[in-house]
This record gives sequence, C-alpha cells and structure tokens, in this order.
Amino acid sequence: MNPLAEIRFHGVRGSAPSSGTDFVEFGGDTPSVEIVAGEARLFVDAGSGLKNVAVTQDFPEEFDLVLSHYHYDHLIGLPFFEPAWRINGRLRIFAPQFGDADPAAILNTLFSAPFCPVRLEDLRPRVEIISYRPGDTFHANGGALISTASVNHPGGCSAIRICLGEGDVVYASDAEVADDPDAAALADFAKGALLFIADAMNDDADALHRRGWGHSSWRDMLGVARAAGVRTTALFHHDPRRTDISLIALDAAAQGVDPSAFMVRQGARYRLHRCAEGPARRIAERGEAAPWRCSR
Ligand SMILES: [Zn+2]
Repeated sequence: MNPLAEIRFHGVRGSAPSSGTDFVEFGGDTPSVEIVAGEARLFVDAGSGLKNVAVTQDFPEEFDLVLSHYHYDHLIGLPFFEPAWRINGRLRIFAPQFGDADPAAILNTLFSAPFCPVRLEDLRPRVEIISYRPGDTFHANGGALISTASVNHPGGCSAIRICLGEGDVVYASDAEVADDPDAAALADFAKGALLFIADAMNDDADALHRRGWGHSSWRDMLGVARAAGVRTTALFHHDPRRTDISLIALDAAAQGVDPSAFMVRQGARYRLHRCAEGPARRIAERGEAAPWRCSR
C-alpha cells in the first residue's frame, strides 16, 4: 500500500541550536518538518533544520512553507534553505497574523540589515507571503487542506493541521497546555490525527518552574494526545540542554505512559499509512526497520 505521506524531521530542538558530543543522537537543529505527499512538498517552520534540506532531482518548482510564529528558532534556517537559492519557481510562505502586525513587514525586517545579509527578494523563486489568522483554513500545493488554531504561547502561535485525505498530521509546537483553559480546544483541533507532532520541551521538573514560558511537558502533551485520540505522538522541540542520555530516558518514560509516543530524532523519516479502526496496524516506519504501531 502506498503511504499517505513521508514526514521528515530536519530539526527537532527548541529555542536554540545545540551541538557537541552529548547531542549527536537526537540532533541540535531547531524546528523544521517536511511533509512529502505525492508530488507536493510542504515545510512547516523554518528553524535551523531547514538548512539540511537538499535539492533533489524530483524537487518541485512550487513549494510551500507554513510558519507557526516568528520566534528566531522557527525562522533562522530560511536564509540557508538551499531550494530557495537553486530552484526557479514559486515559494509561498503562509505566515500567521497576530493582532495588527503585518506578516510581510515582520519577515522583511528580519531579512534585512543589520540582522541578515540577504533579503527575501534575493531568493531565486518568486516569494509570495500569504497571511493567515489562526483559525483560518487554506490549501497548500497538491491540494492538501491546512487548518490552523491559536495555541497558548507568548506573542501568539498557531497549531497546524494538514489533511492528507485519509489521515491528518497535526503540528503543535510551542504550546503551553498546563493550566491553559483552552487546552481542550487543542485536543479538539488534534482529534483523531494519525500523527501528532507536539511540543515536549519540559520534563516533569522543568514544568514546575517554567509556567508562562509557552511550552509543555511531554506528560502534559500525552494528556492532550489521549483526549484527542491521536494514533501516534511525536514529541519534539527538545530543550537545548537535554542530552542524548536524558532524551533516551524520557523516550522510555513516554512510552511507559503511551506506547505509541516517542521522542523524535533529527533526520528521522516516517512513512505515514492509513490506520483503520481495530487491531494495531503499522502506520509509520523509520527507514525500513523499527516499525511504529498504533496502540489504540
Ligand atoms: Zn516560540
């Protein structure tokens, strides 16, 4: 059976890139996720992981990027996005509008002196910046329907749901759900997703003294996943100081709570398959081994 999509994690670290021998297995680049569905290429967020995207022979002339918000760790990869320098065609950037701030003005400020040596207009494809408000729906390349929803994060942030026809991917980075009266709304938004990519910056101890920072613990996010009835939860936006040894321990702890959940490693690719009701069936795999199965 053909997979619905391939999900590629180019960056899984949060807040600031990490490097060194303690960060080899899980990687150090900040958030960027690619969804390949048929001929369509869709990127979600432009963290430093975006620099890991190579131009391949089958790379399309039109590709889309959806941004969740404007914090640096979700944008700093854009000037280093190889397809934007080598592909003639069109790059559409779907950019959220929070309050009265103009998304195009924000991006043009960030990509100008003295912050950056290049401007968006220097990129090779024609760049279109399309604003959306959290709560809007729109279509990406290949016809995928994208829906969005506001989440609890300083300055605003949007969760993003990508409808792939027979199963959805929900991306909820940078969302604080503990004590959030709207946490149930995120569970509603993620309802029944095949893959829930969720902020898990905090461990249990961090969560006690990071109230208001705009991030969640893996345990709180698994509560949302359970309420939403999602099939598999990919925990990411790892704390920049979280070492491989710590993440391996948290990976096991998360699977103790929800066997479908896992801490994502940078560079991992998952093939997303339809998941019928009933007994567990494989829905995603990393490479050709290590099949991931539904637990519900
Ligand atoms: Zn943020």
